[in-house]
Amino acid sequence: MNRKLYDKLIFEYSHPGRCGFSLPANRYDRHIDELPESYRRSETPALPEVDEPTVVRHYTNSSTNNFGVDTGFYPLGSCTMKYNPKINEQLAASPSIACLHPLQPTATVQGVLELYWQLQRALCEIGGMAEFTLNPFAGAQGELTGLLVIKAYHLSRQDAGRTTVLVPDSAHGTNPASAAVAGFKIVEVASPPDGTVDVDDLRSKLDGSVAAMMMTNPNTVGMFEKNIPQIAELVHSAGALLYYDGANLNPMLGVARPGDMGFDVMHVNLHKTFSTPHGGGGPGAGPVGVRKGLEMFLPNPRVMRLADGRFDVVSTDSALGRISGWLGNFTVFVRALAYILTLGADGVAKVGPLATLNANYILNKLSDLYELPIPGPCKHEFVFDGLKDKSTGVTTLNVAKRLLDFGFHAPTIYFPLLFHESLMIEPTETESRETLDSFIEAMRQIAREAAEDPGLVKNAPHDTPVSHPDDTEAALHPLTTWRDLCETPM
Ligand SMILES: *Cc1c(COP(=O)(O)O)cnc(C)c1O
Repeated sequence: MNRKLYDKLIFEYSHPGRCGFSLPANRYDRHIDELPESYRRSETPALPEVDEPTVVRHYTNSSTNNFGVDTGFYPLGSCTMKYNPKINEQLAASPSIACLHPLQPTATVQGVLELYWQLQRALCEIGGMAEFTLNPFAGAQGELTGLLVIKAYHLSRQDAGRTTVLVPDSAHGTNPASAAVAGFKIVEVASPPDGTVDVDDLRSKLDGSVAAMMMTNPNTVGMFEKNIPQIAELVHSAGALLYYDGANLNPMLGVARPGDMGFDVMHVNLHKTFSTPHGGGGPGAGPVGVRKGLEMFLPNPRVMRLADGRFDVVSTDSALGRISGWLGNFTVFVRALAYILTLGADGVAKVGPLATLNANYILNKLSDLYELPIPGPCKHEFVFDGLKDKSTGVTTLNVAKRLLDFGFHAPTIYFPLLFHESLMIEPTETESRETLDSFIEAMRQIAREAAEDPGLVKNAPHDTPVSHPDDTEAALHPLTTWRDLCETPM
């Protein structure tokens, strides 16, 4: 590994006696005897002994080893890595929000509850739903919550035989996983070559055992499900409900609403569509919306506006129990509502069309060199099946790694599973024409290199601090502490 001076681990700079601070005398030293012996340290902790400039340079340089949406273009398909406006962060960090205590009496946090309620109403308006809960912490937890609502609905009708959930073969992996966690059996629905749901296959699988059909629309290959009215009709006449995976609601903003298409239950990812930071496992939020007639099954507790205009946190008997602590990730809600209010209705309505325009622009500028298995136009994202010229042996993984040398984050690769060399690109609406053009030029350059000097692409990246980690080893045996590293030869 080729490491620059400040690329070391902080412990590696340690020199006995070096110091970057001086603490005032310990005022509590004279009370030390009051602390039981077993609570006291017998040895000084093994901390790195370093001077202040080294610490500052080390952490400042480390912070640039990561790639984020603030560092560069991040066209990760099925993930909506849009720019997060900084005003959202300022609001979320303001002391009147950051210093709240979750157990404060509701009378002292009326403004906070109003914010919560306003976001619920905004999402109802955007999704065409009657009611929303903001409680789930992630998209996958939203799916689980939505499926539990569906289960509660069937059980409330004494319809206990509905044990299966239909999932298209193009679905995001969390769909079948959530259905399994909710205790359902999963039945897959096939996709014809255009990636949309095969209505005949769906019809053959619908019977009295089906609790719900889960759909993503536009689906995970970026195609709009044109047969949605027919699908909704089929699913409903079989007594099942239609679930909308709105993790990536982005292309729909300002264009269409799941509720108007016949969906009964949906979730959205605030950490994708509504510009709250995303990645590294959270914090996120996967609010769940339901159509009229299902509100009473949403999980406890709920934020409601009372008849006298006050806001309260309410729990009811018909509802699901708690699915998360407190009321979910509150600062994520602050950011999402700030985003919606700063854009306003007009701005929100431009998001979907602009994201779609950007995706089609890239698709059209690259489809001579990259294999486009499903012809455009696409919605907010699309999939290439690797390079057109497969004779060079350059794979989608190689292309993704080479992009890092050009300062771009890789698109999503090897998903969806419908193609061998999937390269899924989602530019979002926040990127400028210049950014899209330089990404297109990098992709074209990589295609040229693949033909002329395939080794250059296959050995990429060349300029990153780490180039070819063993992904499997890293997942199975992550080294998370300094001691792990000492014990493992590097
Ligand atoms: C991201 C995503 C999910 C899961 O969301 P998490 O917050 O990661 O749990 C579900 N469905 C689709 C289509 C997604 O893109």
